[in-house]
Amino acid sequence: MTVLSEQTVYVPPRATAFRAVCERCLDGQLASRGYLGATVDGLLDLDRAEGSALCRRGHAIRVVRALPESNYR
Ligand SMILES: [Zn+2]
Repeated sequence: MTVLSEQTVYVPPRATAFRAVCERCLDGQLASRGYLGATVDGLLDLDRAEGSALCRRGHAIRVVRALPESNYR
């Protein structure tokens, strides 16, 4: 039994769509299935720094926009 911690997914600075893997689902399935059934697709608007997603089994995933490597304007 592992302690369940919040999952966090980082979205690239200019991306609005992401695909993540729910590690909790991954934990509960056969390794031979790979990532099948554990992927989560979601959207994060460009003007949002943070959001959330739910995998198909209802596990909460925190979505955080990654900062650009350079912040010059
Ligand atoms: Zn899940």
